[in-house]
Amino acid sequence: MSGERAELFRELRNYLIFLRDNGYSEIPVQVSPEIMSKKLPPPSVPQPQSTSAQPEISGTSPAQLLSQVREELGDCTRCKLSQGRKTIVFGSGNPDARLVFVGEGPGADEDEQGLPFVGRAGKKLTEIIEKGMELNRQNDTYICNIVKCRPPGNRDPEPDEVGACKPFLLKQLGAIRPKVIVALGKPAASTLLGRTVKITQERGTWHEYAGIPLMITFHPAYLLRFYTIENRKAVHEDMKKVLVELNK
Ligand code: SF4
Repeated sequence: MSGERAELFRELRNYLIFLRDNGYSEIPVQVSPEIMSKKLPPPSVPQPQSTSAQPEISGTSPAQLLSQVREELGDCTRCKLSQGRKTIVFGSGNPDARLVFVGEGPGADEDEQGLPFVGRAGKKLTEIIEKGMELNRQNDTYICNIVKCRPPGNRDPEPDEVGACKPFLLKQLGAIRPKVIVALGKPAASTLLGRTVKITQERGTWHEYAGIPLMITFHPAYLLRFYTIENRKAVHEDMKKVLVELNK
C-alpha cells in the first residue's frame, strides 16, 4: 500500500473512531468534505502550561475541533498505558454541550466498549444526570477522562501518564468551551486545577479552569463504594448548584 493510501486509511479510521466516540452508530450522509479531503489546517493547539490559559484551537465547530484533537491523538503510544489497553476512550456526548464531566480514566467496561462511564459508575453518573438533573446524557453533556487508556487493575494513573495525556484533555475542553465543568473526584480536580485538591474539604465548592466555573464533586465510583445518605445528598446538592450556574 502506498504511503498516501495508508495515510488516507489512517485518517478514515480516525474519523470513524471520532464518530463512534460521539455516539454515532451509522455514518452520516453528509460527511464533512473538509475533514475527508484534509483541507482543514493542521491542529495548532498550543500546549497548555497553566490553568489560567485555555488552549485556543483553530477551526470552526466544536465537533470539527474535537475531530482534530482525536486525529492528533491517533493510535497513541505516548505513555505506558498504551501497552495494556484495548481501546482508546476519547470521550462521548455532544461536542456543543454546555456541561462537561471529567473523570479519572477508563475501567474494564470502558476499555472494552471504547466509551467513557459505561460500567457501574457510569450507570450511576447517567442516573445523576438524567434523574437528578433531568438532563439528557448524550445531548446535554460531554464526558471524558484525564487519561484515555485503562490503567492496569484500575490503579490510579501515574504522574507521567497524566502528564502525557493531559494536553489532550485540555484541548478537548478548549474545543468544547463548556459553560460549566464538573470534576469527578480528586484526580480530575487536581489535574484541572494544577494542585492537590482535598476532596472532602473542597467538594461542593466552585473553582475555575480557564475562566470556566468548575465544580468539584465525588466520583460516582466513590459514591457507590460509600453509598451513605450524606454522600448522596452532597452530590445532589453539588448538581443543584451546577444547574443554577447553567441556567444563569
Ligand atoms: S493514556 Fe493518553 S497519553 Fe497515554 S497512551 Fe493513552 S491516549 Fe496516549
